[in-house]
Amino acid sequence: MNIYADRGNLLMLERRCAWRGIGFELIASGLGERLDPDAGDLFYIGGGQDRDQRLCAEDLIETKREALHAAAGRDAVVLGVCGGYQLLGRSYTLDEERIPGVGLLDVETVREGGRLIGNVAIEVRLADTEGARVLAGFENHGGRTRLGERQEPLGRVLSGYGNDGTSGVEGAIAGNTIGTYLHGPLLPKNAWFADWLIARALAIEPDELVELDDALERDAHLSARRAAGI
Ligand code: GLN
Repeated sequence: MNIYADRGNLLMLERRCAWRGIGFELIASGLGERLDPDAGDLFYIGGGQDRDQRLCAEDLIETKREALHAAAGRDAVVLGVCGGYQLLGRSYTLDEERIPGVGLLDVETVREGGRLIGNVAIEVRLADTEGARVLAGFENHGGRTRLGERQEPLGRVLSGYGNDGTSGVEGAIAGNTIGTYLHGPLLPKNAWFADWLIARALAIEPDELVELDDALERDAHLSARRAAGI
């Protein structure tokens, strides 16, 4: 799935790898196409309208579920944004219809009235990263996502709605599997997080990555934070 410039996330990963001389190859996987769990270091699922999600969910379960579990099992990064995040969970329920998800994250999403739309900022504490960092982005979802008892959120909401507008938490993380509602797109606004993902995908520490001149990226990050009022 792809919505709200999800492609920008992939471009961001590609450029930051290229600038460092890290090989990068993008392989798309469409409906009905099998996934090779060993073919990638990072698996990405973007957002989508409810209609697209139905189609993708069916396909994810039928042709990609096992491969995604195998990829996550060998610590490849699996990143789902918005609709993709919802489908990494157990289910997405719309009225009477329950769309099963991949089940890599212990979360359940239910579509409720009104959409949660706006700029959002969250505080995250990640392995390999000292202290708290901020992720800033944009959210637009009708689904409210609730975490299972032992499911860790990705972060704490500083501004915006997050998972459900009431719990004060956003996203979910389990090992190298991450789901978040932040897009617009996520990675160009948070270069540090793009690097964290690259490092996780390569099984190295983020500070082992060659530093880049991030003046523009820092401005983009600050601008996204300002938009969220942080
Ligand atoms: N269709 C989902 C929802 O409304 C996800 C939307 C999205 O990916 N922007 O909750």
